[in-house]
Amino acid sequence: MAASGERTFVTDPSSDTHAHPAFDRARFTCPACHELADQVWLNAYASQVSNPAGVPLRIAGAGLEQLKQNPGFPPPVRDQKVAYWNRVNAGEVFLDRWSMVQTDLFVAGLELSVCRRCMAVAVWLGGRMVYPAVNPPG
Ligand SMILES: [Zn+2]
Repeated sequence: MAASGERTFVTDPSSDTHAHPAFDRARFTCPACHELADQVWLNAYASQVSNPAGVPLRIAGAGLEQLKQNPGFPPPVRDQKVAYWNRVNAGEVFLDRWSMVQTDLFVAGLELSVCRRCMAVAVWLGGRMVYPAVNPPG
């Protein structure tokens, strides 16, 4: 029985094809691909934003158009960069390899789960999944 206000997920307790995403499970129905799949849990560590402006870097609008025309990158690299910023600008959360960082700043209370089937990331704050948003039924 779902508590009032709890996100509702199609769950059949007798089914082995669905399991509500939960903080204490290593296998649940992925909110992205909707398949029952193993999940890898990740801790989050922090490092200071390295953008010279001192704020998070975003490339959008005219800056993105400029990047699309930038002859300084081979076309495949350019396409990869544009695809990256399109995903970021769309509000997507995903894993990406960036530069190596060394940090002991641990982000307590925030974890990520990653679906082994589709590699989609879910963000958990205080043990509750906050991304992707699960739309209430109806
Ligand atoms: Zn998935």
